[in-house]
Amino acid sequence: MLKSIRIKMITIYFLLIFMAMVIVGVFMIQQFENYHLGVERNNIISVSGSVAATLQHTDWQLEQQETQENLSLYERVGMEIYVIERNSRFNILASTNLTYVDENATRILEPDLILGSLNGHDMEKDVLAGAQGISSKNMAFPLYDENNRINGVVYVRKDLGDIYQTLDQSKFIMIRATLLALGITIILGYLIAASITGPIRDVTVKAAKMAGGDFDQVVEVKSNDEIGQLASMFNHLTARLKTSLQEISSEKQKLDTILTDMADGVVATDIRGQLIHINPKALEMLSLSREEAKDMTFDSLFSPINQRLTLKKIGSDENGWRGHELLEMRNGSKLRASYAPYRSEEEDIDGVVLLLQDITEHERLEKMRKEFVANVSHELKTPLTTIKSYAETMLEGGVEDPVMQARFLQVIDDEADRMARLVRDLLQLSNLDYQQMKWDPKPVNLKELMDKVVRNLDHSIHEKKHTLAYDPPASALYTYGDEDAIEQVIINIVSNAIKYTPEQGDLRLYLEEEQSTVSLTVQDNGIGIPSQDMPRVFERFYRVDKARSREMGGTGLGLSIAQQIIEAHGGSIHLYSRESKGTRVVIRFPKIKEDSEELASIQH
Ligand code: ADP
Repeated sequence: MLKSIRIKMITIYFLLIFMAMVIVGVFMIQQFENYHLGVERNNIISVSGSVAATLQHTDWQLEQQETQENLSLYERVGMEIYVIERNSRFNILASTNLTYVDENATRILEPDLILGSLNGHDMEKDVLAGAQGISSKNMAFPLYDENNRINGVVYVRKDLGDIYQTLDQSKFIMIRATLLALGITIILGYLIAASITGPIRDVTVKAAKMAGGDFDQVVEVKSNDEIGQLASMFNHLTARLKTSLQEISSEKQKLDTILTDMADGVVATDIRGQLIHINPKALEMLSLSREEAKDMTFDSLFSPINQRLTLKKIGSDENGWRGHELLEMRNGSKLRASYAPYRSEEEDIDGVVLLLQDITEHERLEKMRKEFVANVSHELKTPLTTIKSYAETMLEGGVEDPVMQARFLQVIDDEADRMARLVRDLLQLSNLDYQQMKWDPKPVNLKELMDKVVRNLDHSIHEKKHTLAYDPPASALYTYGDEDAIEQVIINIVSNAIKYTPEQGDLRLYLEEEQSTVSLTVQDNGIGIPSQDMPRVFERFYRVDKARSREMGGTGLGLSIAQQIIEAHGGSIHLYSRESKGTRVVIRFPKIKEDSEELASIQH
């Protein structure tokens, strides 16, 4: 391209100079020719006038010798002069060219000029001689006698060969000058073109480097002309482009970080459904690898999960590319897919952005909340109905027997107790949920606490004729926490073992020191828990056998309260069970040493 600009410029200069030289040359040569011809003509006129003046009104015909001598005076003017008589032979009486004296003039000279001047006219004619075009100038003038009659002709012939030779030389000089000028033009044109194309080439090379991603390009500004302005505009453009690209790249990085680290999945496709972006969370939610997602489209990605999610359907939707759908995944998770269009600058829809939110947990909690309300209502309704019906029966006076009355009142009291227990447990759970438990944390001697619990539950154990095996540890084992809460947990777990073991069961308790924990194991050989119920036993109100649990005064909240208390103390609780074989509950508390600095620091 640059090459062609250079050649174009040189060609233009060349043609301009060539045309100028040709026009000037032709014009000058013509002027030169005209001037010389004019000069020659005037010379001929003056020479012939002078000859005529000498011969006019004289008897020149009779004085041939004298006339010849007169003409000899003109030999050096470089013209051929002929004095022609008016007679039938058109005799040349005298001439500067002696060869033709006494010859017939019409044979040597131009007859029409001779005849014309014999008729009284001044005649003139340029005669072409040969191929070179060298002509001679011929002029003929009449000569008059005393009676003003034409008696002869003065004929002058001037060979113009010299003039044309001079003109040829001039032409040759012009051609040489033209060639020289053209040579200089080519050199100057080359230099001028180079001075213009050089900076352009510099800009082009640097622009190509910029296209390759290297924006550290600066063009040297050498002048203040258009090229210089182009160079400084290029530098300005580079600087602007660099800043803009830096801004864009930093924005992109921010966006990338947001998209990569966000908790929701984001999928973007173009208007044909081709995937443009899918963030790691979306890949995880859709159980896809990046490789698998590479060739997928909007339709192939979503329509197998939800038939309504195709580009065609969401495009023809009344909200137009905007809405949400539920995706039920094979792994059981539920995703809410909200989609919206993104537009070009011309406001045309360019594609769709789809946001995936995992609502499995939300749904689960919502379900739990509903179940909880239903459970609480149900748990309260049963004792309330019993109390109400017993109270009504008594109010109606239907029970007069004091023994029966006492039994009725006992039932009412038991049901009221159950409700009170339920409300107490609910309040405790709520306090645990909102972390509003009023703990009184201090070092707790678990050995002592276990002895106390065993003593307190001794009665119930005996009632059910269970045997209890408990071998207390040799030394005291300490944990740190709220003693009452820890006691409540232990009572609850041991009570469950007592409750859910048929009479004459075998209960075992272990209190053991581990590396950093103290473990308490409560084991029974009772009814156990079916394996399908195992994952749910820590749920609120979950009871394997509702009727049996209720009958035994259980609320179904004990294990979940225990779990929350233990976890609040930094411990853990695990339950292992086999149906009809028995259950083992292992609780671990963080251990502290009685005489340790830790304990001392806590106590202070
Ligand atoms: P509840 O007040 O009904 O005892 P929990 O939350 O303490 O409630 O226990 C939940 C359920 O787990 C009980 O209803 C019972 O079905 C089961 N369970 C708990 N401990 C035992 C155990 N030692 N043996 C068998 N089943 C148990």
